[in-house]
Amino acid sequence: MNTVILKFGGTSVADNIKLNVVAKKIISLKNKAKNVVVVVSAQGKTTNQLIKEAQELSAIPEEREMDMLLSTGEQITASKLSILLNRKGYPAVSLTGWQAGIKTNSIHTSAKIEQIYTKRIEQELEKGNIVVVTGFQGLNEEQDITTLGRGGSDTTAVALQVALKADKCYIFSDVDGIYSADPNMITMAKRLDEISFDEMQEVADSGAKVLHDRCIQMGKKFDCDIIAKSTFSDEGGTKICQQIESSEVKSIVKNENLIAIEIENQQFYDIYQCLLENNILVEAFQKREKVIEFRIKKSEYNKVIELLDSNYPTCQVKQKDLMKLSVVGYGIIQDNQVLNQVIKILKKYKIEILEVNLTLAKIEILVKEINNEIVKILHEQLIK
Ligand code: ADP
Ligand code: ASP
Ligand code: MG
Repeated sequence: MNTVILKFGGTSVADNIKLNVVAKKIISLKNKAKNVVVVVSAQGKTTNQLIKEAQELSAIPEEREMDMLLSTGEQITASKLSILLNRKGYPAVSLTGWQAGIKTNSIHTSAKIEQIYTKRIEQELEKGNIVVVTGFQGLNEEQDITTLGRGGSDTTAVALQVALKADKCYIFSDVDGIYSADPNMITMAKRLDEISFDEMQEVADSGAKVLHDRCIQMGKKFDCDIIAKSTFSDEGGTKICQQIESSEVKSIVKNENLIAIEIENQQFYDIYQCLLENNILVEAFQKREKVIEFRIKKSEYNKVIELLDSNYPTCQVKQKDLMKLSVVGYGIIQDNQVLNQVIKILKKYKIEILEVNLTLAKIEILVKEINNEIVKILHEQLIK
């Protein structure tokens, strides 16, 4: 193997003991591959903690400053890991996103990678160094630090795979692959050996945080397989790749990070534009009689309320929590069998359905609330 990318997430690098496990894994792969590029996340819950501390200072901190702050988490991990690898006799150098040549657009807190100038990484690899790159960050045209959105280190890893034409990209985490449901919620969930880019995209878009949604788009676009594996075991793994056809349910996702906003207002275009211009991800924007209704992520709620308060101070805003259940599998909507089974189970357990949406690889059901026991029953009935 010539070049491999290894990405380690927050739980995998949470403390010195775990960093030692990670270093061991890197060394064993360095003995097999000529060039090793490692991408790291911030340790444990560092990013959450930094957000909390910033919000204690200001309810809605400036996004530029948040990027400056949050990018520090990854720097700590990269330098610690390099110190450890060097001590173990494996020369390593840490690089920030900007030192690694990662150029992004200017959308602070959810920037997109536009270009990677790989010269510096290549020079370091040429010298025989293991290159440890901070995930989740880059630099925009104004030379300001940007971040790629929560969970974005996965996207750094796949972007480097593409830019360096690496042979393999491993995403290591606390689970040994992609499962038929979140294994921390449904204990009998099954690990999948393979899942297609399209299906994985639906799993990620539905809110399973196991992989960042944009890394899958990139893998698909450049036809680069991604391998999800565990940091703490050599067994298992799931390959995310192109697949020809299949028509079974692969995974079930429950998403609680959703909120519906209802505004007594008729300014459809103005309000929609205001949200879009402020980079709010809006789902299902619609006008009904005297109200406008749309859905957003709970995590964007404060920002949306602040926007509405300052731009439309007189309008009445109501909100309600929602949940979304997604049943993912390419081709499962081509007959009504799976949908029928889902509806039967939800009816039996008196779950009020608010909306059903279908895509080529997903059945998505919006509900007020659904508990994990019912998700477990759905899993039992739908996953072969
Ligand atoms: P990292 O910190 O390494 O980036 P994440 O916490 O982002 O890891 O992703 C791993 C977590 O994703 C697991 O601990 C698991 O609870 C969750 N998860 C959700 N859905 C799935 C799924 N279908 N398969 C595997 N893990 C899942
Ligand atoms: N540290 C960032 C986050 O927690 C990025 C990542 O972990 O991928 O969202
Ligand atoms: Mg992650």
